[in-house]
Amino acid sequence: MIMDSNTLYDVIIVGGGIMGSTTAYYLTQKDPQLNVAVIERDLTYARASTTLSMVNARIQYTLKQNVQISQFAFDVLEHFEDRMTVNDIRPSIGYHREGNLFLYEDGDVASAKAALAMQQALGCQVTWWSPEEIKAHYPLYAPEALGLVGGTFGAQDGHFDAYAVLMGYKANARAQGAVYIEDDVTALVIDNHRIGGVKTKSGATYSSAVVINCAGAWCTELARTAGVELPVNPVKRQCFCVDPAVKSDRPLPLTILPSGFYFRTETGGMVLMGKSLPEDVIGFDFTWDQNRFMDHLWPELAEFVPAFEQLKLIRGWAGLYAVNTLDGNAILGEWPEIKGFYLANGFSGHGLQQGPAVGRYMSELITGATPTLDLSIFHPQRILDGKPIAEGGLLTKEVQYNVR
Ligand SMILES: Cc1cc2nc3c(=O)[nH]c(=O)nc-3n(C[C@H](O)[C@H](O)[C@H](O)COP(=O)(O)OP(=O)(O)OC[C@H]3O[C@@H](n4cnc5c(N)ncnc54)[C@H](O)[C@@H]3O)c2cc1C
Repeated sequence: MIMDSNTLYDVIIVGGGIMGSTTAYYLTQKDPQLNVAVIERDLTYARASTTLSMVNARIQYTLKQNVQISQFAFDVLEHFEDRMTVNDIRPSIGYHREGNLFLYEDGDVASAKAALAMQQALGCQVTWWSPEEIKAHYPLYAPEALGLVGGTFGAQDGHFDAYAVLMGYKANARAQGAVYIEDDVTALVIDNHRIGGVKTKSGATYSSAVVINCAGAWCTELARTAGVELPVNPVKRQCFCVDPAVKSDRPLPLTILPSGFYFRTETGGMVLMGKSLPEDVIGFDFTWDQNRFMDHLWPELAEFVPAFEQLKLIRGWAGLYAVNTLDGNAILGEWPEIKGFYLANGFSGHGLQQGPAVGRYMSELITGATPTLDLSIFHPQRILDGKPIAEGGLLTKEVQYNVR
């Protein structure tokens, strides 16, 4: 393909993963006249976090805005196949709402119940289960073995096919006029505190008064070319897929132990799992290590689900979280010191489900529309001010591991 490097775009999006593609979709839906280019260095998405994710969507957050973001995602995913059919191609996204079960020790109950009350007040289907109720729903589980005092079950939480959703947004964005360019952005062009476009590895310069950083775990490198230092680290996270000798007779929800270890069933009775550890490597490392499964994950799984003691490790993979070291939350909006330079970064391991709401919000910010959902709490000004968003309780361990 011949690059048209002389074109002046209304908006350039760097990175065509879920954030770049949802933003391109909602922008071109809102204003079909907008000239939008998405510049993506690898259109196979082999290392994009979007395609290496565990693809869980959950309502169980302690920050109201994160709950509302997921409520929109639930609506989008529920209707995705009907609404995103384009050129006679109907996406098939395998949306399974099998629930999320967060488990608690005694000391975590008060904060979990406070979060539960907030979620219920927002209309979410989340309930408190005693250890007996947990066992009645999932007889293979042994909450007594870990001294657990209960759990919160989000019945509408679930998982889906991330690649299919990404391709659905991309196909629709392109049908609405967005252009995808395969190239590597090497520098942002800045003139007098205003963005002017981007330079790429192929030697092209693309001009635009609006550039959006949707570069995922690579966002800090990109921002640095404009002299902007983001508190976002690429952190390696590993997942494993096993085939247990004893199969569960029902789908198991994404089950999260107090240690942060999580697992759920996949097709064919397989079990997927992972756990963030404090020693997880910071950097662009995609190797996976089966010793992590042997040393950390298997013993914990077998203790909580004794029936899974015998199993075969089938495969594993590693991907990158874009960890916001300030507060583990998204960074959304225009960078205060550079006009026209927007950020959609720092999703810290829960960004896939946030793609729809973030893409819609970015499109509203850029077109000057009133946001359907006010996400101004995530504005990048808080980085300059050094003021983290306080999210506590429910996700304390996850956030602790992420924010470093
Ligand atoms: C193991 C793992 C499990 C996860 N589990 C979940 C989960 O269960 N639920 C959930 O919601 N989220 C989960 N996440 C997080 C989620 O995957 C991410 O938050 C989300 O996909 C981020 O999307 P993105 O578009 O910002 O980044 P990406 O999908 O990484 O896309 C960024 C794109 O930018 C491109 N790019 C970067 N720099 C440049 C450049 N200079 N020029 C051109 N292109 C560039 C990259 O090639 C990439 O394709 C998980 C992540 C991992 C790694």
